[in-house]
Amino acid sequence: MKCPGTDTRFLRVGVHKCPNCGYEVEIFSDEVRVKCPKCKKYVYREELPSCIDWCKYARQCIGEERWKELMDFKKRKKEE
Ligand SMILES: [Zn+2]
Repeated sequence: MKCPGTDTRFLRVGVHKCPNCGYEVEIFSDEVRVKCPKCKKYVYREELPSCIDWCKYARQCIGEERWKELMDFKKRKKEE
């Protein structure tokens, strides 16, 4: 069983402007960053996928590697 936050049926796409070149990049609700197809820089979501923030199964759900990536991302955001 998958939780709704990462179920592809519930995925939503958000459009984010690349801070580097202004290109509009689509980021799915379960993704934190995507590479800008124009300038190849990473475009980050402003917010983390909500269910990962509060769901206690998030770690198992998205996997250890991705979990770490998200936590690093969160830490970096705080330090900014
Ligand atoms: Zn760009």
